[in-house]
Amino acid sequence: MAGSTSVNAQVETVIDLEAIAHNVRVLRAYAGDAAVMAVVKADGYNHGAVEVARAAVAAGAAEIGVTTIDEALQLRAAGLTVPILSWLNGSHADYAAAVTADIEIGVSSVAGLRSVERGAREAGQTATVTLKVDTGLNRNGVPPHELPELLPALRNLVDEQVVRFRAVFSHLARADEPNHPANDRQRDRFLDAIAAAKEHGLEPELVHLANSPATLLRPDLAFDMVRPGIAMYGLNPVPDLVDADLRPAMTFQARVALVKRVAAGEGVSYGHEWVAPHDTTVALIPAGYADGVFRSLGGRFEVLLGGVPRPSVGRICMDQFVVDLGDNAEGVQEGDIAVLFGGGPGEPRAQDWADRLGTIHYEIVCAPHSRVVRRHVGGAELTHPRSAPPPPASTR
Ligand SMILES: *Cc1c(COP(=O)(O)O)cnc(C)c1O
Repeated sequence: MAGSTSVNAQVETVIDLEAIAHNVRVLRAYAGDAAVMAVVKADGYNHGAVEVARAAVAAGAAEIGVTTIDEALQLRAAGLTVPILSWLNGSHADYAAAVTADIEIGVSSVAGLRSVERGAREAGQTATVTLKVDTGLNRNGVPPHELPELLPALRNLVDEQVVRFRAVFSHLARADEPNHPANDRQRDRFLDAIAAAKEHGLEPELVHLANSPATLLRPDLAFDMVRPGIAMYGLNPVPDLVDADLRPAMTFQARVALVKRVAAGEGVSYGHEWVAPHDTTVALIPAGYADGVFRSLGGRFEVLLGGVPRPSVGRICMDQFVVDLGDNAEGVQEGDIAVLFGGGPGEPRAQDWADRLGTIHYEIVCAPHSRVVRRHVGGAELTHPRSAPPPPASTR
């Protein structure tokens, strides 16, 4: 997939925008009649927020979701015109700029509503507000007992046209356990909050609750819109429960810096944790923990190099690690590309790293950083409908 078009980067993430588009189409089919909000917080889960958002919208995502106002402003500045919702901002954030750029602001408290009000008055424009209600995750979101204070305040601002009330949303705690009663409890509280808003004359245009696992497993929770993040990047958060046709969009790869012989009995890398059991050949990969190759993976993972999985040997250093090529029958050379993880045939998966590290693939794709160069491929096709794959059998 990555091809070899003018690649000079030593270490890079290659982001396949056609995979993003494919995943969005798959998720649209799961969403049924509900719209899709593409979640591109944290720089698009480290895939590049602007490029991913453009690809997602071209593939039929109706809206964009991010954490901070700064993230939202960056997307507006890049020319995205669809609704953009930002849901986690402190009182110091630039609400006036958000209002001016027509960013929809998720409100989780009365104090947050006051911040939006100030921003709207400063900007001299109506702010668009979405109510984030806490239905049991107990992070941000208005808890039920604060609604009696918040809803009248919101209603007053709507009457004054300082605020336009658009939507109600909430976030699930245990969507990866689809049959857990917590999900139904959250749904019930969500419906209660919507009913309470309506009692104050606050009629939402739309309501939304589902993240990726809920989109895949709980179609009854899709409401008007689903908000997938990780699944859009091609990583299934519930692989044991559903075999969704998702394509990992990120390939993390590096060019071999050196190939050399190591004699039996020689130790390799700091601490000589690995000693060559026989004469062998090793390849030096110029990526280390400063680049997002977790040090604790040392000796516990493989890269795909020369068509063959090659085991890491010895410690992972800040800038490099070593893999064993054995007799190097495949003739691996300096400059060849080693895939650390990706989505192609035979390539290790982010899920493999997550399993070995006792974490989730969300954290793995967020790891490549600093010197790692990000390169997008597949986007050109998005602007040429002739070469775009056929649309899915969507129900929309
Ligand atoms: C991150 C996030 C999502 C997306 O979650 P995934 O598990 O990646 O699908 C959806 N909604 C909210 C509020 C989020 O913070």
